[in-house]
Parts: sequence; C-alpha cells; structure tokens
Amino acid sequence: MKTVVIDAKTIAAQIKDEIANEVRLNTEKGMRPPHLAAILVGEDPASKTYVASKEKDSHSVGFTSSVYRYPETMSEKELLGVVDFLNNDPDVDGFIVQLPLPKHINENNVINAINPDKDVDGFHPVNVGKMVLGMPTFLPATPYGIQTLLERTGIETSGKHCVVIGRSNIVGTPMANMLSRNASNANCTVTLCHSRTQNLKELTLQADILVVAIGKRHFVTEDMVKEGAVVVDVGIHRVDDPTNPKGYYITGDVDFEHVAPKCSFITPVPGGVGIMTRVSLLMNTMTAYRRNMEKA
Ligand code: NAP
Repeated sequence: MKTVVIDAKTIAAQIKDEIANEVRLNTEKGMRPPHLAAILVGEDPASKTYVASKEKDSHSVGFTSSVYRYPETMSEKELLGVVDFLNNDPDVDGFIVQLPLPKHINENNVINAINPDKDVDGFHPVNVGKMVLGMPTFLPATPYGIQTLLERTGIETSGKHCVVIGRSNIVGTPMANMLSRNASNANCTVTLCHSRTQNLKELTLQADILVVAIGKRHFVTEDMVKEGAVVVDVGIHRVDDPTNPKGYYITGDVDFEHVAPKCSFITPVPGGVGIMTRVSLLMNTMTAYRRNMEKA
C-alpha cells in the first residue's frame, strides 16, 4: 500500500495565504483588519502557549490581536464583565476565552455569556445547535480543521464509513455530527465510539476513515486498521526524551510507525491536526469579520 502522509503544513499555509490576501485587499480599500481577542486567566503554561500561538497566527495574516490577561484570583463576576465588554466592542469581530478556567469559575456560565456572533471557538450552545442543524455557524476548531484537511486533500467522504473514537464536546461529538451531515464534504455513515464501546476493534476494522481522539498514546495499533483506510490522529502527547534537544518529543493516539503502512492516507503528529486547529480559528474569525463588514 502506497501511503500518503497528509501534508497539513502546506494546506494550512495555503489557507493562511488566502486569508492574508483577503485581509490585504480589504485594508487597501480602507477597511479595518479583522480583530481577534483572547482572554487568558491564570498562569497555566499550556494555556499561555496556546494564546501566544493564537496571537502569532493572527499577526501572520494581518489581523489585529489583543490578549486580556488576568490573575488566577480573578472572580467569575469580573470575568463576565470582560466578556460583556468584548461582546459590545464593535471593533472586536470575535474572541475566545482560553480554557480551562480556574476551578472557582463556572466555565458554562462564561461560555453562555459570550455573544454567539463573536464565539469563534463555536462553543456557545446556540452555535452548537446551529452546527447540529447544519446551519451556517462557527464550527469547533479541531473538527473544522479535520474536515477542511480531508476536503483539501481530495479525500472522498460521501458514502464512507467513518469511525470516530472519543466523544468529547470539542472533538469527537462535533466531528461525528459534521461528517454525517448531508453535505458534499460529509455524507459519511458514522460510528461514534467511547470508553463503553464493547467491540471497538471490530468497528475500527470497518472504518474507511478512522478519526482517533482518545487521549491515549499509541492506542490505535496496526491490527485495528483496515488496509487502505484514512487515519486521522487527533492525539497530542509530550514524551520526555533526554536525547531530543527539546527534552521531549510529541506523538499521537496512533502508533504511526506500524499503522501508516496499511493506510491510504494518514495525518502525522506533530504536523497534522494541530496545525489545522490553529487555522480554523482564523477561518472562523474571517467569517465573523465578513459578516460585520456586510452589516457596516
Ligand atoms: P477527552 O475529553 O479526554 O475524551 C477522550 C474520549 O476518549 C472520551 O470520549 C472517552 O470515552 C474516550 N475513551 C477513553 N478511553 C477509551 C477506550 N479505551 N476506548 C474507547 N474510547 C475511549 O478527549 P479530547 O479532548 O477530545 O482529546 C483527545 C486527544 O486529542 C488528547 O490527546 C488531546 O490532547 C488531543 N487534542 C488535540 C487537538 C489538536 O488540535 N490536535 C485538539 C483537542 C484535543 P468516555 O466519554 O466514555 O469517557
């Protein structure tokens, strides 16, 4: 089997070029650039890294980016005040509240307070509802990135059996929904698996497209994958490695080395789904911006 390692880096770079061109054309016409804001509460190192990446990505395509940083001790009421401020700032097209939040803040209260028209993470119940109904909305970044990756790689989804492992609200559940929609980039027959699934291997062996979002390093092994399948690895694991200059390496939920030879297409980790997740936020911000420019 000739395996194609899906080139997410090139696809992400193409999308960023397209966005940057659109922003440039608009600003040359005198329009303001898109504005993406982020709220970061506390000192969680991973959250700080994610927000820094979002800032860097925004600048790379010509967006205005602002980050509102607050200490761990910020109260829920204070945070809701900042959300309200951004909801009402006409110069902000979209914003995200970086999760997780400190334990004393109720995440649902905060997500519910975001204006759905600015909810570029696609987490607000209104936007989740629109996604389920197939209405135009902000799609959650990771499944949106995966769907875009499949589409731009030219992988046929219509009529295929897609098995998704993992049912989180941010990855597995929306992925299963999006790929089962009656749409040209979907139309899959979807099986959604989770920790109570009893015959997992029997199901994964039937998958034409296998999306793995389980959070267990190298969980999917070669005996679980059908010859010629498309495998999408969402997992991200940092493994200590003193021989690596960084002191660690990154790997996924799929045992890439042994699974890849059986696949028609497979995403690498790193350099796969993670890159597309970042680009999705830019795509959603462009959607919010275009809507605002049409209204103006
Ligand atoms: P999560 O919230 O931890 O959920 C894991 C899911 O896997 C749950 O639905 C769980 O089932 C299921 N599961 C656990 N053990 C299982 C088993 N033995 N058999 C079948 N299913 C099992 O996961 P997540 O937030 O979606 O993240 C998954 C992975 O993707 C993590 O490594 C995360 O770091 C990574 N991630 C990457 C990106 C990216 O951009 N690349 C984005 C988000 C997440 P139950 O529901 O029954 O507990």
